Amino acid sequence: MPTLRLVLGDHLSRDVAALDGLDAAGDVVLMVEVAAETTYVPHHKQKIVFILAAMRHFAEALRQEGIRVDYVRLDDPANSGSFTGELTRALARHAVDRIVVTEPGEWRVRAMMEDWAAATGLSVEIREDDRFFCRRGRFARWADGRKSFRMEFFYREMRRETGLLMEGDQPVGGQWNYDAENRKTLPKGARPPLRLRFAPDAVTRGVMDLVNTRFAGHFGDLEPFGWAVTRADALKALDHFIAEALPAFGDVQDAMKRGEPFLYHGLVSPYLNVGLLTAREVCLAAETAWRRGAAPLNAVEGFIRQILGWREYVRGIYWHQMPGYAETNALAAARPLPWFYWSGETDLACLAEVVGDTRRNAYAHHIQRLMVAGNFALLAGIRPAEVEAWYLAVYVDAFDWVELPNVHGMVMFADGGLLASKPYAASGAYIDRMSDYCAGCTYDPKVKVGKGACPFNLLYWNFIAENAGTLRGNPRMAMPYRTWEGMESGRKAQILTEARAFLDGLDARPAASRGRQTMLDL
Ligand SMILES: Cc1cc2nc3c(=O)[nH]c(=O)nc-3n(C[C@H](O)[C@H](O)[C@H](O)COP(=O)(O)OP(=O)(O)OC[C@H]3O[C@@H](n4cnc5c(N)ncnc54)[C@H](O)[C@@H]3O)c2cc1C
Ligand code: SF4
Repeated sequence: MPTLRLVLGDHLSRDVAALDGLDAAGDVVLMVEVAAETTYVPHHKQKIVFILAAMRHFAEALRQEGIRVDYVRLDDPANSGSFTGELTRALARHAVDRIVVTEPGEWRVRAMMEDWAAATGLSVEIREDDRFFCRRGRFARWADGRKSFRMEFFYREMRRETGLLMEGDQPVGGQWNYDAENRKTLPKGARPPLRLRFAPDAVTRGVMDLVNTRFAGHFGDLEPFGWAVTRADALKALDHFIAEALPAFGDVQDAMKRGEPFLYHGLVSPYLNVGLLTAREVCLAAETAWRRGAAPLNAVEGFIRQILGWREYVRGIYWHQMPGYAETNALAAARPLPWFYWSGETDLACLAEVVGDTRRNAYAHHIQRLMVAGNFALLAGIRPAEVEAWYLAVYVDAFDWVELPNVHGMVMFADGGLLASKPYAASGAYIDRMSDYCAGCTYDPKVKVGKGACPFNLLYWNFIAENAGTLRGNPRMAMPYRTWEGMESGRKAQILTEARAFLDGLDARPAASRGRQTMLDL
């Protein structure tokens, strides 16, 4: 009897585990576009187009190989709207005796799959996703017994195991990490390369029309849509990055500039996350550029560390800690997400720029996500679950396994320091140093309190004061606490009063949006 092989929208690799051992003549590959997955947060329109268009192109490539593909479109009138419903309907169309699927990137969907054997009466094989450098069991062996995890130690083990940037058992260049060289500001007159954009073909246009009618109320601009939706185009995007941007990636990795959303970043996360590119080929392409002298070591090591280190590390934490991980709230943050995260209507120029970039491109680079949008949410004490839902909705590369640890652990410190040793909290001085945002702002990053004071300055000290019970004992927070405790009491009181007044004004929403708590209520 043939096998039904379910391929999900982020499993678009020809060598994904569910397709191992495929009998092209007999088996059926099932791919389904389901409403439940497109609407449980109001995903950016470009994110929906990216995933559905990449799925449709992948299905067509399988058909070209002579593989039998059963593809259910979102607008199929009989579409039940859920994975379980579509699996059940497919079983009525095909006589199969087992179901094979690769494990999903989300705990919620994994739990759903566990019920399928009982629901269908068939054997359901959930195969491990082997597209990562670090298998789940390998991560568990590293993590078990540790009280807290640190990416750097995990990363060194991954370097040794993969041989990437290694000479024997030593790191090339004699150092594991060149981060100290990667915090420069953008030189005056720097001209970041224009990025390859891929004009939508007829298939992608069809999806854009569908999204335009069906998801008009979702966050973000639909056009211009320039993401690659095939492996061939994703490879072109990778080549372009390696040739044009990688050489400068390291130096100014943390810099931000108005009107330059991409700078020298890779723009490869969506392709990695849905399977159009593999992590190994992306890292090897960067390493090869260094070996032939086309990119410096600080850039290449920094880039590989993001993928071999951070990407694998957060995935390991996700599966090791879920489902309880998402429930913690170490700093008891409880404020609702301000409306400007959706509208971009704020007089804080840095946030207006980052939300604007996000709306236009479904993309913001790491420091924009961490030190502007994330830093504000942390300092303002926004409820972690609302912040997580926002990040999951607005970025083209957002999938639960990678978004949740980054937001819950790295940004919100909601895990109490399991993922990162201290909160990434910063005042306006950091944003001023690393960007040109402040020059166009009504506030002044150098003013700490009183008229024109940058809200990040007020909120930083308010955060330090409010969380003293939890953070005072953290050795990495000793310096800010010493500064705060040494501050004159009248000044401290003024900072706290102004910070609280600012926070109290935050929820004020424009008239058009009053009554809606978040875009999730749309
Ligand atoms: C609050 C927050 C939320 C994030 N949410 C996501 C998300 O939903 N999906 C996602 O793929 N990345 C996420 N990241 C990580 C990172 O910001 C993006 O991977 C990166 O901005 C993607 O753009 P790029 O390809 O140009 O990356 P580059 O800057 O060129 O980096 C290269 C690659 O390294 C990997 N990478 C870098 N940092 C991380 C990280 N912290 N975790 C995992 N992978 C990393 C990505 O695959 C990325 O493509 C998040 C980071 C923060 C701080
Ligand atoms: S002054 Fe403060 S609020 Fe304004 S852009 Fe700079 S950091 Fe952001």
